[in-house]
Amino acid sequence: MAYDCSFLSNLDLEGEVSFGESVRETHAADFGGDERGMGVTPDAVVWPESTADVSAILAAVNDRRVPVTPYAAGTSLEGNAVPAHRGISLDLSRMDAVLDVRPDDFQIDVEPGVFGSAVDEAVASEGLFFPPLPSSGDISTVGGMIANDASGMKTVKYGEVGDWVLELEAVLADGTVVTLGSKAAKTSSGYNLKDLLVGSEGTLGVVTRATLELAGRPEQIRGGRALFPSLDHAAEAVFDAVRSGVDVATIELVDADSARMANAYTGTDLPDVPMVFFEFHANHGVEREIEFCESIFEAHDVERFEVAEDEAAMDDLWQARKDLAFAIQTYDPDLTALHPGDVTVPIGDYPEMVHSVKGLAQERDLLVPCFGHAGDGNLHYSVLVDEEDPEAVEAAAEVYEATVEKAIDLGGTATGEHGIGLGKREFLEAEHGSEAVEAMRAVKRALDPRDTLNPGKLFPETVEGERVRADDQH
Ligand SMILES: Cc1cc2nc3c(=O)[nH]c(=O)nc-3n(C[C@H](O)[C@H](O)[C@H](O)COP(=O)(O)OP(=O)(O)OC[C@H]3O[C@@H](n4cnc5c(N)ncnc54)[C@H](O)[C@@H]3O)c2cc1C
Repeated sequence: MAYDCSFLSNLDLEGEVSFGESVRETHAADFGGDERGMGVTPDAVVWPESTADVSAILAAVNDRRVPVTPYAAGTSLEGNAVPAHRGISLDLSRMDAVLDVRPDDFQIDVEPGVFGSAVDEAVASEGLFFPPLPSSGDISTVGGMIANDASGMKTVKYGEVGDWVLELEAVLADGTVVTLGSKAAKTSSGYNLKDLLVGSEGTLGVVTRATLELAGRPEQIRGGRALFPSLDHAAEAVFDAVRSGVDVATIELVDADSARMANAYTGTDLPDVPMVFFEFHANHGVEREIEFCESIFEAHDVERFEVAEDEAAMDDLWQARKDLAFAIQTYDPDLTALHPGDVTVPIGDYPEMVHSVKGLAQERDLLVPCFGHAGDGNLHYSVLVDEEDPEAVEAAAEVYEATVEKAIDLGGTATGEHGIGLGKREFLEAEHGSEAVEAMRAVKRALDPRDTLNPGKLFPETVEGERVRADDQH
């Protein structure tokens, strides 16, 4: 249903409000598109410019029970920022100030609309960096990363975004402004509500300021790539390297299909074989760690092990990996990349997970490029099909569902870093069990009793388009 959002014009906001169709349309899809047709176009878009703006908007929508969906850069892949129930798209991209850098404390304060790469730029001259940046760090924001609990290529060494968030200022559903967490390196004071907000996809509160922890840039950064005779060899080699305690900062797997697409996109002439990209960080002795890694890869029949001379040369070696998402999307104009996403499994089960996905693809004669932050047991996939062919579209859905179910069966997760959004709601109970999902609902009811914050996300029964709670329940 459409909501009357004209009240927005009467709020005394620093920011801007738009009811224009084209603006609303741009807030009705994210990078993953809306191939499953679950999202809708908002009735209005508003760009707050301050915490006071966000507070006034949330208080007003709460009074009227109008849905509000936070939106940042829209690079999510599961419809996380796409409204399920019209209402208002709350676009935080104009709250993009770097507020304070405190190099002695290894900390930075930012507004939520700051791009991830801008954090690195702001602290580079201090010899610092933000380690958990996702691969999309230059096109996605701090607020979106916190809300999705994103992670990236360096997570195998440094952890995920949530591990680097110290303190959050957030606005709750009724407009109340709270500060959660602490600027201290550790705290055991009270409920850890800061971590509850991390990964909550804008369903429990809107982040308006974040204090992030930073790391010192290592003295030595070396990286390269290794080519393997088969995907099984590559996956086993990654597992062995992690199990053996190789101190790797990044270890990425790319299958032969993805390698072919990356070659076509970047114009490189690498063989179309499975590859592992790696990077090492150390203050001294990085060569020893590289040799250790090479010896393990040799035990898995590595065909080529190339280490770049310096960071600039490493960028060249890595180009194929960096362009991958776009290479897959543009590979064949007659094929659409359906169900782009990720699963993550315990590292010991990684080879089985990889083998299973490729088997599912082969059985149905489908093209399923796979790659991922392998050191975390993470695998990305999409299914390339002709959208006009209903049988192929159905087969793609089967591969997708079987992949996610396999990850859960292995003790892993339906989503290692992209969140549940609209796309993975149906797997929430299978992963956590109905009792745990009911506990999540209780949290949502406590913090957002009128179900205004990003309603229709996460919980499975909202698939049919019903909002979870009615006013008279409270
Ligand atoms: C090419 C490509 C590569 C990618 N690589 C990675 C990767 O390596 N690792 C990874 O984890 N992800 C990756 N992603 C997914 C995506 O970029 C991340 O999830 C990113 O963190 C989303 O940020 P965003 O600014 O685009 O947020 P959006 O997509 O706009 O929003 C994300 C979620 O956050 C909520 N939200 C936004 N701002 C706020 C706020 N201030 N307060 C509360 N809630 C808010 C939204 O409602 C939504 O639920 C990739 C995506 C693409 C397109």
